[in-house]
Amino acid sequence: MDIKKLIRKNILNLKPYSCARTEFKGEASVFLDANENPYENGYNRYPDPFQTEVKRKLSKVKGVYENQIFIGNGSDEAIDLLYRIFCDPRIDNVIAPTPTYGMYQVCAEINDVEYRQINLNRDFTLNSEAILNAIDNNTKIIFICSPNNPTGNLLDITEILNILNNFNGIVVIDEAYIDFAEQDSMLKSLSCYPNMVILQTFSKAWAQASVRVGMAFASTEIIAYFNKVKYPYNINILAQKHIMEILDNEADMIRQVALLKEERKNLENELKNIPGVLNIYPSDANFILIKTNDANKTYDELVKKGIVVRNRNSITLCQGCLRITVGTPDENIITINAIKEVL
Ligand SMILES: *Cc1c(COP(=O)(O)O)cnc(C)c1O
Repeated sequence: MDIKKLIRKNILNLKPYSCARTEFKGEASVFLDANENPYENGYNRYPDPFQTEVKRKLSKVKGVYENQIFIGNGSDEAIDLLYRIFCDPRIDNVIAPTPTYGMYQVCAEINDVEYRQINLNRDFTLNSEAILNAIDNNTKIIFICSPNNPTGNLLDITEILNILNNFNGIVVIDEAYIDFAEQDSMLKSLSCYPNMVILQTFSKAWAQASVRVGMAFASTEIIAYFNKVKYPYNINILAQKHIMEILDNEADMIRQVALLKEERKNLENELKNIPGVLNIYPSDANFILIKTNDANKTYDELVKKGIVVRNRNSITLCQGCLRITVGTPDENIITINAIKEVL
């Protein structure tokens, strides 16, 4: 598989911005190369453009090499970079199942790239053959989100492998919710698939949404293109330091995930007893999609009670659906009682 053939010509030929700290290699005590204010206060210097220390720690936690990691301003940065690296505007196209995470389409439109949507089956399972049938010579990326947002389900691994094995382009596996699933990450197969890019994030299970740090894992070759195209100092020093600390507390994350999975089960059981809830879709994530007779009205009534859920009524295959994030036990009880009153 020749990744080079997939890269946009302008990116292949790009001479990336070379920042002061990248050009200098060695030992020094006087830094007059970056027009910084010299008075030390902890923040006056530019941060490490490649987040070396964060990647060193992350590589141990994730079991991958440091140069198989890209760190972005949320996974949203990685999604946008994928378009900018691989997709020629108005020529190339990408494919994604629908419904899925909205940012793939928004980034396609911003980058002026055709976005091909293939419906999931009625039960939200993945039809890999339908996806493969939509490929043409200009298809560069296929996005697969598993567990999928907003449906909550893991997509069948054999269907995903069918796509990975039969597409000569980039396959992105968005694992934003993998920590809540009973299935392993695909990270273990990273070296088997030179065309696979795995996205993960600190925004969900790790409880760091406001810090804006996401990860992409891929071959060293693909990661090198991410580094070529990204803004030089895309992760600020506050975020880098903070994530170093967070990575020392993986046990906290694991404990909270266990609690949230317990609460997900409780929520599901409570929702089953509410006649106005027509369907509860099985979830491998930290949210549950439910179907009601009138999602708009239910949404509005819940807002009146001070409870905000996500109205997915207007999304393909999701008519009547609301997406409810698993909250604390108290929040979940309040929400269940409110749904009982309005439905
Ligand atoms: C929440 C979410 C993300 C995370 O995005 P960040 O930019 O890292 O906060 C990525 N993918 C999916 C499918 C999500 O639902």
